[in-house]
Amino acid sequence: MTDILVIGAGYTGMMAAHGIARRSRHARVTILNPTDRFDERLRQHQAAAGQALGVHRISDLAAPAGIRFVEGRAAAIDAEARKVALDDGRALPYDFLVYAIGSSTRRVEHAFTIDDPSLAERLREHPEGTLTVCGAGLTGIEAATEIAEAYPRMRVRLLSRGEPGSMMGPKAKAHLRRALDRLGVDVRTGVTVAEVRPGAVVLEGGERLPTDTTLWTTGVRVAPLAAQAGIATDDLGRVLVDPGLRSVSHPEVYAIGDAAAIRQGYGVVHGTCQSGIPSAAHAAESITRRLRGKDPKPFRFGYIHQPVSLGRKDAVIQFTHPDDTPSRWYLKGRAAIAYKEAVSSSPLKFYRSKRAIPARMTGRTGGRRNRLAS
Ligand SMILES: Cc1cc2nc3c(=O)[nH]c(=O)nc-3n(C[C@H](O)[C@H](O)[C@H](O)COP(=O)(O)OP(=O)(O)OC[C@H]3O[C@@H](n4cnc5c(N)ncnc54)[C@H](O)[C@@H]3O)c2cc1C
Repeated sequence: MTDILVIGAGYTGMMAAHGIARRSRHARVTILNPTDRFDERLRQHQAAAGQALGVHRISDLAAPAGIRFVEGRAAAIDAEARKVALDDGRALPYDFLVYAIGSSTRRVEHAFTIDDPSLAERLREHPEGTLTVCGAGLTGIEAATEIAEAYPRMRVRLLSRGEPGSMMGPKAKAHLRRALDRLGVDVRTGVTVAEVRPGAVVLEGGERLPTDTTLWTTGVRVAPLAAQAGIATDDLGRVLVDPGLRSVSHPEVYAIGDAAAIRQGYGVVHGTCQSGIPSAAHAAESITRRLRGKDPKPFRFGYIHQPVSLGRKDAVIQFTHPDDTPSRWYLKGRAAIAYKEAVSSSPLKFYRSKRAIPARMTGRTGGRRNRLAS
């Protein structure tokens, strides 16, 4: 038996663990996560707005596939001895390691981030106050619209250097802007936040904007676990991988999802489930190929869409070219709400099913989209 240890039971770690456990009878798969609750990161803006999300236990998702779940936090990787030390003193050995610890938003003093569980309570306590959202990327837009809809008397302000939805085509961008206006979100573009203080956000140039709550949504960081173990990473702490998703410095380590720096023809893939889940499926396939004495195949990924919810009653989906530039197709309104909901719920449905991972996800089909991405 070969020991496969997956660190992180988020969307990608769970997918990789299922992929390996369902494909190989000669692998003993263990998944490690600090809590037994599956964190639906795709719905964190809904949680911030006070919606009760479903509770999904990692142990329940893992056990039917024969995956062993260990509740605990990886504190250090000993890449030479092939062991992961947990912060409570336990250690887990591995033959292959799958690094799937995800990423988080950069922390800024006096500001919340979207994954902070106390944000929802803070907003509940100040339903008529001012919320300042710093950054109009997809997380900033989804948070601003969701919270503005849930708290109609709250003043929601969205600060950004560029136009919200600048990566979208003109029609989707216009729809997004109409939704922000309809929900009364006060959008200020062309501004840069210089500092967050208690009760105020200060812009470059000195303007002071009073606020009750500040939500910071820009800048990604990956915990330095791999870097501290001497595994090669980029400046953000993401593991540098070869085309087969193996660490360039430690080929028994695979990295996937937000914690991996995956290079394609158009650049380094940015952290989304859209790219992370295929990377997990591909890593699972690469590992099972290696267990059968075969070489891994190169991973090819091309983007399909930019799905953005605009509260519970609206959404916009911009379809894209493989390099994530907008195509001329987009969805809005009801069709877009249903599409976004399918995107958010399908990973959990897959972990509960007994289906094999669809071949199109593993990058081995060599279809048009994948060829364009290479
Ligand atoms: C509000 C919001 C909306 C989004 N919407 C979309 C969308 O519509 N489409 C899309 O494609 N992407 C979307 N994303 C991005 C997407 O959520 C991430 O790209 C995805 O979650 C990355 O998956 P992951 O498995 O790499 O990391 P995660 O899902 O973050 O999972 C990482 C796991 O590792 C665990 N972990 C961390 N450190 C350790 C440790 N030391 N030891 C053990 N375990 C550890 C964490 O607890 C976590 O369970 C959205 C993100 C946000 C915040």
